[in-house]
Amino acid sequence: MAFELPPLPYPKDALAPHMSERTLEFHHGKHHATYVKNLNGLIEGTPNEGKSLEEIILSAEPGGLFNNAAQVWNHTFFWNCMRPDGGGEPDGELKTAIEQSFGSVDKFLEEFKTKATTLFGSGYTWLVKGDGGLEIIQTKDADLPMKHGKTALLTVDVWEHAYYLDYQNARPAFIEAWLGNLVNWEFVAQNLAGA
Ligand code: MN
Repeated sequence: MAFELPPLPYPKDALAPHMSERTLEFHHGKHHATYVKNLNGLIEGTPNEGKSLEEIILSAEPGGLFNNAAQVWNHTFFWNCMRPDGGGEPDGELKTAIEQSFGSVDKFLEEFKTKATTLFGSGYTWLVKGDGGLEIIQTKDADLPMKHGKTALLTVDVWEHAYYLDYQNARPAFIEAWLGNLVNWEFVAQNLAGA
């Protein structure tokens, strides 16, 4: 069965001014949609046609199939990492886990900001749960934590298409606005609870 583009979990204009309707029209309506279309083209008539997205990602060799499947997963996850009136600070068990691994929420936010800002080229910065607790990792292009045996809790897409229409080349301003106003900490807490 073919994969479908999942709808955004909020209206397209709901994240403005931090992420504009125009950015979401392109990022969800064009980029994400194209990854879904490409993936369906690549699996049609192959043994991958009946597999789940995760099964395809975990079994695919580097190349087009992996890239498109991972990008479908990454974008669906990224939309859920945001909400209108998001940001602020995590609480409850998530806050405790962050404090245990990073010392404090402020230190975590600082390291996340630095890693998202300094990732060279296209990719993602993630908060993940690994064997040793929580950590922040950077992945290049379409790569993602599940391919490295880690559970994704939060991600920010730092491909230029994620911020160029709203912030041009100013990735640090995008990261600052994203952490301050868009992060859906409840989603992150749910991911930790299920990890
Ligand atoms: Mn993207």
